[in-house]
Amino acid sequence: MLELDGITIGYGKTTAVENLTLRVEQGEAVSLVGPNGAGKTTTLSAVAGLLRPRSGAIRFEGREIAGEPPERLVRSGLALVPEGRQIFATLTVGENLRLPLAGTPKAEAATALARQLDRFPALAGRLDDPAGGLSGGQQQQLAIARALLCSPRLLLLDEPSLGLAPLLVDAVFQTLAELRDEGVTVLLVEQNAVRAVEFADRSYVINAGRLVLSGSREEIGHRETLAASYLGSTTAIADAAEVDRKEGDS
Ligand code: ATP
Repeated sequence: MLELDGITIGYGKTTAVENLTLRVEQGEAVSLVGPNGAGKTTTLSAVAGLLRPRSGAIRFEGREIAGEPPERLVRSGLALVPEGRQIFATLTVGENLRLPLAGTPKAEAATALARQLDRFPALAGRLDDPAGGLSGGQQQQLAIARALLCSPRLLLLDEPSLGLAPLLVDAVFQTLAELRDEGVTVLLVEQNAVRAVEFADRSYVINAGRLVLSGSREEIGHRETLAASYLGSTTAIADAAEVDRKEGDS
C-alpha cells in the first residue's frame, strides 16, 4: 500500500533522514520507532505531503506521491493524526469534527459522525464545548476521530501516546487495534517503542536518520534487540538478536 524507496529528507543543510526504505502492506499495522530526533516526524511529514524528499520515491497504492499537496493526499485515502493533536482549541468539538465533512452530503455526514461518536462516547457529550477544554486523552480521541472522518485507507499517526497517562495510552492502543481489525492500514510513529513494537505487525527502528533494524514483532520484539538498536551499534544489534534467538530456542 505504501512504499518509501530510498528517501532522503533534509532541512536546509541538515539531512534528517537518509536513504530510508520502508513498506506497509494493505491491512498491516507498521510502527516506525526511534529516539528523539531520529527522523520519525520528518518521515511521516513527507508521506503526508508536508515535506518533499530530496531524493527517493514515495508510492501510495502504486502511485508516486512525493511532493503532492496534503489535501490531495487526504482525498486519495491517506490521513495524518499529527504530533501534539493539533486540534482547533477555540472551535467546539462538533465544529472540529464537522470540518473534514464539509461538502459531504448531509445524511452521509451524519452517519459518519455518529459512527465516530459511537467509537468515542466521551466526545458525544462534549460536542458544544470548546475542544481546548478536553482532557489530553479526549483531545487525542478527537484528533483520531477527525482523521477517520476523512475515510482513510491508510492512517498515519505521529506519537499518539505522547504525554498521556498509562491508562490513556492503553486506550489509544486499544483504539488502534480496533481500527486494524476494521481493515484500516496503520503507520504509527512512536517514542514508546516497546508498546509500538508489541502492537505492530512489523516495525522499523531508525536512529539519526538511518534505518538500524526492521522486522516482525517476533523478530525484534525482544527488549535486548530493541535496546541495542537504540544504542546505534550494528554489532550490538546483531549480538543482541543472536542472544534473543538463543533464548527463544531454549
Ligand atoms: P521527536 O520524537 O523528538 O519528534 P523525531 O524522530 O520525530 O523526533 P524529527 O522531528 O523528524 O525527529 O527530527 C529529525 C531531525 O531533523 C532532528 O535532528 C531535528 O533537529 C531536525 N529537524 C526537525 N524539524 C526541523 C526543522 N523544521 N528545521 C530544521 N531541522 C529540523
